[in-house]
Amino acid sequence: MPRPSGASQPYRSSACRIGTHDACAEATKRFSSPAGLVTYEACACPCHLNSTSGKR
Ligand SMILES: [Zn+2]
Ligand SMILES: [Zn+2]
Repeated sequence: MPRPSGASQPYRSSACRIGTHDACAEATKRFSSPAGLVTYEACACPCHLNSTSGKR
């Protein structure tokens, strides 16, 4: 049973968690509603840090 190691863990989308970084679409914070009532955490996976133009 994995115990929670604090809440300092950066958010990572389920896509990045399972390794499908190419399918991750949460690199930036998005708003669910036009009014911006609901916000989602941006994916903090390191794979997005190098997603400037280094497609290999
Ligand atoms: Zn990723
Ligand atoms: Zn991601």
